[in-house]
Amino acid sequence: FTMMNYERLSVGIQGLSAAQTAYQWSCEYARERLQSRAPTGPTNPNGAADPIIVHPDVRRMLLTQKALVEAGRAFAVYVGKQLDLSKFGEGEDKVRAAGMVELLTPIAKAFLTDKGFEGTVLGQQCYGGHGYVREWGMEQLVRDVRIAQIYEGTNGIQAMDLMGRKVAANGAKNLSVLLDEIRAFCADAASVAGMDEFLAPLNDAVDNLESLTRFVMESVANDPNAIGAAANDYLHVMGFTLYSYMWAMQCRTVLSGESQQGEDFNKAKLQTARFFVQRLLPQTQALSAAIRSGSDAMMDLAEEAFA
Ligand SMILES: Cc1cc2nc3c(=O)[nH]c(=O)nc-3n(C[C@H](O)[C@H](O)[C@H](O)COP(=O)(O)OP(=O)(O)OC[C@H]3O[C@@H](n4cnc5c(N)ncnc54)[C@H](O)[C@@H]3O)c2cc1C
Repeated sequence: FTMMNYERLSVGIQGLSAAQTAYQWSCEYARERLQSRAPTGPTNPNGAADPIIVHPDVRRMLLTQKALVEAGRAFAVYVGKQLDLSKFGEGEDKVRAAGMVELLTPIAKAFLTDKGFEGTVLGQQCYGGHGYVREWGMEQLVRDVRIAQIYEGTNGIQAMDLMGRKVAANGAKNLSVLLDEIRAFCADAASVAGMDEFLAPLNDAVDNLESLTRFVMESVANDPNAIGAAANDYLHVMGFTLYSYMWAMQCRTVLSGESQQGEDFNKAKLQTARFFVQRLLPQTQALSAAIRSGSDAMMDLAEEAFA
């Protein structure tokens, strides 16, 4: 099992690294490719057009990639640390880390590869038609990352493992440990000036995850399909909540003056975190509403009607 947990994190990192590469390539392309003018007026008046990085929709694609890979890298290190503690740690720390590994491994495999694929496709999209043809390498990257969602246990099976075995079957014991850790972090970080815009959405996301978990666990008594119907969306709610935690930790490092990376880097960290909480984290609300609708809409259609 220890080997399989490392293996699943490795596959997650395969998804993450494809997205990181797609992000770097698409940033470079967006600075060079000239097409249309900026809505606020020309930024390249001597050229035939402006570089596409000026367009809000291109920025959406670039910032989504950046926000997901930077949170994903932090999350991969966080899970790696739990894996190492569960293997090499001692006493309470070892037991606690083993519980975290149980809980987090399906998310590391499935969320990193789902978001890895999404980010890679966004990178490809930045290339327009050049993203579809072979010579730029983007379509190869998309084909290569796609397998990571399928092998080492499909992401659907990872989601069932998370919701069924890792949460519902043990009364959300390990989840409570994680939520306590995040709440303790929020309480501690609240004294750092400027943290509120990152902590308030994180606290809300944690409260939502807790009540959503209770909802699904209570639904199981009357509905055998409850876990299967919720699983994929639940894994994504938890993935976004964890990424919000990763972003808040990075912001605390910057805002408490501990970062050694310089002003430009620190400013970009806060701006990217802001994009994450304002533009990506709200997806948890839509996913949670879908879960709370129950399994009927998914299960009512007769098999013969799938035609
Ligand atoms: C390129 C490649 C390399 C591979 N390398 C290896 C390897 O080195 N070692 C190895 O052991 N395997 C390997 N595999 C196999 C891989 O792990 C499996 O293909 C994968 O786990 C999916 O299993 P399956 O193909 O039987 O799909 P199926 O189990 O038939 O699944 C089909 C679909 O149904 C869903 N599904 C199935 N059961 C359920 C359920 N109970 N509830 C909800 N949804 C369900 C799945 O999520 C999936 O979407 C490789 C596969 C490929 C394509």
